[in-house]
Amino acid sequence: MTPTERTRGRERRHLPIRKIYPEPGENPLSPSHLSKRLLNGVANASSEGCWTWMRSAKRSGHATMTVAGRTVPAYRVAFEVWVGPIPNGQWVLHRCDNPRCIRPDHLELGDQTKNMADCSRRGRAATGARNGQAKLTQSGVDEMRRLRSDGWTQARLASRFGVTQATVWRAVNRRSWR
Ligand SMILES: [Zn+2]
Repeated sequence: MTPTERTRGRERRHLPIRKIYPEPGENPLSPSHLSKRLLNGVANASSEGCWTWMRSAKRSGHATMTVAGRTVPAYRVAFEVWVGPIPNGQWVLHRCDNPRCIRPDHLELGDQTKNMADCSRRGRAATGARNGQAKLTQSGVDEMRRLRSDGWTQARLASRFGVTQATVWRAVNRRSWR
């Protein structure tokens, strides 16, 4: 992570406002619509590094978005849309130590104890290291297939979804998931 990515709140440049509206008949709370909103809030989802949220954030730098009229952490929405449900009492933690990041393989479940242990172990120094591969939800797989049919390469899809190319191949060729 570069020093500018650690810059907080108001100092950041934001993306130009380009709102994503649901298609006619599309549920605004559906994973497919939320997925589009999440990707619309980052500038670099095809690159290797953090997917840094360019919209609203708390003073602490934690990415936020409005869902059904409530301000919620954008990385929790990202985790639920792309990885899976968040069990009661669990936190979504940043492996990369970048509170604006919504990249699925930079997120993991943990409790508050783990959160504090991680912070002190890292000494607030980000590694961005992958401690294993993110899994995909059905909506992640659907989105991946859609992008593949739009001509995305497997390498680019692997990078965007934080999984291996083998996982992309299995998802796109329907060897896993339905
Ligand atoms: Zn990250």
